[in-house]
Amino acid sequence: MTEFDVDLFVIGGGSGGVRAARIAAGHGARVMVAEEYRMGGTCVIRGCVPKKLFVIGSHIRHEIDDAAGFGWSIPPVTFDWPTLVANKDKEIARLEGLYTTNVEKSGARIVKTRAVFEDAHTLRLSTGETVRAKYVLIATGGAPNHGPMIPGIEHVISSNEAFHLPELPKRIVIQGGGYIALEFACIFAGYGSDVTVVYRGQNILRGFDEDVRTHVRAEMEKQGINILTGCVVNKIDKHGKEFTSHLTGGSSVTSDLVMFAIGRHPNVANLGLEKAGVAINPTNGGIAVDAWSRSSVANIYAIGDVTHRHNLTPVAIREGHAFADTVFGKHPVQVDHATIPTAVFSQPEVGTVGLTEAEARAEFSRVDIYKTAFRPIKSTMSGRDTRILMKLVVDGLSDRVLGCHIVGDTAAEIIQAVAIAVKMKATKADFDSTFALHPTAAEELVTMRTPTARYVREAAAE
Ligand SMILES: Cc1cc2nc3c(=O)[nH]c(=O)nc-3n(C[C@H](O)[C@H](O)[C@H](O)COP(=O)(O)OP(=O)(O)OC[C@H]3O[C@@H](n4cnc5c(N)ncnc54)[C@H](O)[C@@H]3O)c2cc1C
Repeated sequence: MTEFDVDLFVIGGGSGGVRAARIAAGHGARVMVAEEYRMGGTCVIRGCVPKKLFVIGSHIRHEIDDAAGFGWSIPPVTFDWPTLVANKDKEIARLEGLYTTNVEKSGARIVKTRAVFEDAHTLRLSTGETVRAKYVLIATGGAPNHGPMIPGIEHVISSNEAFHLPELPKRIVIQGGGYIALEFACIFAGYGSDVTVVYRGQNILRGFDEDVRTHVRAEMEKQGINILTGCVVNKIDKHGKEFTSHLTGGSSVTSDLVMFAIGRHPNVANLGLEKAGVAINPTNGGIAVDAWSRSSVANIYAIGDVTHRHNLTPVAIREGHAFADTVFGKHPVQVDHATIPTAVFSQPEVGTVGLTEAEARAEFSRVDIYKTAFRPIKSTMSGRDTRILMKLVVDGLSDRVLGCHIVGDTAAEIIQAVAIAVKMKATKADFDSTFALHPTAAEELVTMRTPTARYVREAAAE
């Protein structure tokens, strides 16, 4: 008999927890995973996957609109929101089943319950049962954060509820300027809702390259999405089935639904962390971890959104895998968080990897910018008023490509491939020596010959 019931107890059956459980079980560990809601976690159940399905569906509307220029005559189309939601739910249930089966096949045991710490090695399940574990992995993810308690906040929905609306709102106000807010703005607009985005900053997509921010905003506005910046919703009134969102500055917007997507907080509350002695990172509110994802307690690790480092599925997965290899696989791995490609599935899409122009100019003494904006070939016949943006940020001294930013259809698909080159430290000369693939939009990435701007810092010129 060992002192512990399991070698590893994973709290949370999301992207990171599932990967860690499967890999650790593969290394021979006795693993138990607790999931209080549905296996698969945020990404599968109410994040990336259902969102992408909604994005794909709403994009069909653009295809239909674009068809006439190519000779198609399509009778007036109708759209049925409940069908979309039901089919999405079916697919999500299928994926949830796959996640469950895969974990079980690996030899790990799932307990469908909430788990909290009693002490550093003991977990209490909602059944009252306790489990003693040699190691514990906290992979509890994050949750929507609505911000300050303004009057009428109880009327506000988050992305969680947006996936299960009984009907498509005719008018919706979405507060937030990050990727979730903008993706939902484009989703609803594509299906035919009248959308207003409210954001407190001066421009949407904080943290992205300035050209990307300007370009995306202009493209969304061309589609009729109303973007109000420099203000916030400070009160919401309900009259019958309608809501009035009052904005700082005095104006107001009436809608059938109000959604906030202004940020997410790590799921650290009521986990019993204090009983286990696990410290919180004072700067981001997530669990404090070192480069090995180890918490302040030697046998407790944390990965994914609960650490609030880079809240993306592939990051959670890689952290979970690295943890399991390190602790159970005799193969210590630290995750390299540099050069993470990201996308915004707005319409048009954003794909980005590496440094923004501002970041590069702050870090490097000579920075060359290669930038182009052009009409995609499709819109020459569809008549759609849209432009693609492509931008390379290059270290003028080493010629290394530091960043690549694309706004346009399939930008995310393109950037995934470009990310390999950027990660491998490809130079602009490597890009230039690569044959163009014609006719594509992405060929611009290897045919931009002359910098559109060059920034040289005084000290470097000496
Ligand atoms: C709307 C939306 C869209 C997104 N789109 C993308 C995207 O396009 N690309 C991308 O890379 N990322 C996207 N993300 C982010 C991505 O979903 C997360 O980064 C990822 O799911 C984090 O994985 P995780 O394992 O850390 O946590 P989660 O997947 O959140 O899993 C945590 C799990 O722990 C469970 N849990 C919590 N507390 C307990 C407890 N005490 N006991 C038992 N179980 C518990 C929860 O129920 C949950 O299932 C999106 C997120 C949202 C909300």
